[in-house]
Amino acid sequence: MKKIKTAFSKNYFLLPLLIVSCVISFYACKKTDQQLPAEALHQDMVDYLAKVYGFNKNTIEATKDEIIAEGDMVFSANDFWKKYTVNLNDNAKHYKYGKVTATSNILINVASGTPTEWVDAAKSAVTAWNSISGGLTFSIKTNVNQSTSGVSVYMAELPGTFWKKPYALAEYPSGGYPGWRIRINTKGFSSTKSEKIGIMVHEIGHCIGLTHTDSGEGTLIGNLGTCSTGTDNASIMKDDGTYSWSGFSECDKKAYDAFY
Ligand SMILES: [Zn+2]
Repeated sequence: MKKIKTAFSKNYFLLPLLIVSCVISFYACKKTDQQLPAEALHQDMVDYLAKVYGFNKNTIEATKDEIIAEGDMVFSANDFWKKYTVNLNDNAKHYKYGKVTATSNILINVASGTPTEWVDAAKSAVTAWNSISGGLTFSIKTNVNQSTSGVSVYMAELPGTFWKKPYALAEYPSGGYPGWRIRINTKGFSSTKSEKIGIMVHEIGHCIGLTHTDSGEGTLIGNLGTCSTGTDNASIMKDDGTYSWSGFSECDKKAYDAFY
């Protein structure tokens, strides 16, 4: 009796272990093999970003933790509804949605250990954003070990997406605050000094709520005249993978000025 009971108890305890290990292997496979696209992951959030933010659904992908629109705009799945639900009456229309309203000072915190060329690119990007007219002031701290506010910039190994292999991913604004981080892809394409500056300018643009000027989707910033139609080929907020920095386009400047 004792023997039988022991055997039974053993099996009884083995069963949950077996189930747990099956579940873990399933998710481990899922994470590596089926990470993107993941239609079933956060479908409600994907739908919301398509409907309200106006992103083309085919450009939105999801991982367990985040939803990525058009290859590099990141929305956290955690507290998504608290962070990104927008006032539908905000019809102010260059493509945008999340406006920074809680602060006018955008602090860029570049993590210690970041390669010098990226630190320099971030510095140049901050100078660039400060050089044009708008209501925000940009500043930068380097060799930061732990940032408490502002935008954290650091190197990270990022997953490839079906959309593209990203140079970097930028968090979108939430709750009136700028997107909280820019992750530079340690596995991204190589880039020139000029491209690094362009990439940093572009990603900071996302952190303050600007989206892609060539996506044809989303809500336009208002009162841009001819800048509201056609493609602005000189825009740094274009998503065509060429980011050599030669300054903002006239429409970029106009859009930033109108938005802020
Ligand atoms: Zn982008």
